[in-house]
Amino acid sequence: MADRISHADGIVRGRALLAAGASRADLRRAVRAGAVLRVRDGVYAVPGTPAPIIAAAAHGGELGCASALRARGVWVLGDDRHLHVWIGSRGRRFPHAGCRCVTHHDDGRSAFGLVGVVRALVQLAGCRGDEAFFAAFESAWRLGLLDRAARAEVRAGLRAGQRWLVDIARPDADSGLESILRLRLIRHGIRLVSQVRVDGVGRVDFMIDGVLILEADGRDGHAREAERHKDLVRDARAAAAGYETLRFDYALIIHDWPTVLQAILARLRDHHRTIGRRAGAGVALHVS
Ligand SMILES: [Zn+2]
Ligand SMILES: [Zn+2]
Repeated sequence: MADRISHADGIVRGRALLAAGASRADLRRAVRAGAVLRVRDGVYAVPGTPAPIIAAAAHGGELGCASALRARGVWVLGDDRHLHVWIGSRGRRFPHAGCRCVTHHDDGRSAFGLVGVVRALVQLAGCRGDEAFFAAFESAWRLGLLDRAARAEVRAGLRAGQRWLVDIARPDADSGLESILRLRLIRHGIRLVSQVRVDGVGRVDFMIDGVLILEADGRDGHAREAERHKDLVRDARAAAAGYETLRFDYALIIHDWPTVLQAILARLRDHHRTIGRRAGAGVALHVS
């Protein structure tokens, strides 16, 4: 019985087990012996099924949206305090202990387990907005979870005003933070080139106007400390080659965006003034 359940993403309806030949007495015995967990009336799981999948089944459906993407290793902006559960367009929500779930009702019939990447991304776009979607989309693409057909499917599932996000997405962003930085600057009318090789420095996240290097540091505090010397070497080499580097971490980009933007704009204004002086009077350069 447990074997049958584990083939069904860890969760199965009691009536499917009964239809497959188990008796009610078998089921009761299996639950008593701990071979099978009772999730709620008529729904069972095998021990070892991931807790979020069991909670989603208790709530009435499949792990979806941000939660399904996280479960697949995709970078998702924001906290994970809430479980996102898809119960289908006509599904029913069940009360369960500690429920703080966000319920998704989009079209279709849900089962148990985990929704697919395409549906989860479309759900995320509606649930968490452009930036969260864009970063997760680029992350899923980089992880090899989205082939061309899947990307087109996601695009078709979005509302018209969000489809351009798929069109500007790339598969080479190192972190979700990098995706968000790029999206915000594009929206600000700043043209930047991603993943540029600089002689003596290596690959940098972004280059603007051929002089300003931007690095989005998605590492946590510990990893960053260990790499600090390497960063300083890179910055010194970049400076020697005539570049300037600005580095931003998660806290700055997510919680103090105005500081980031002002730093970038000020540097670009300086650069354009310098070019203007070199080129002589009458050269008008504009940073939007
Ligand atoms: Zn719930
Ligand atoms: Zn959601």
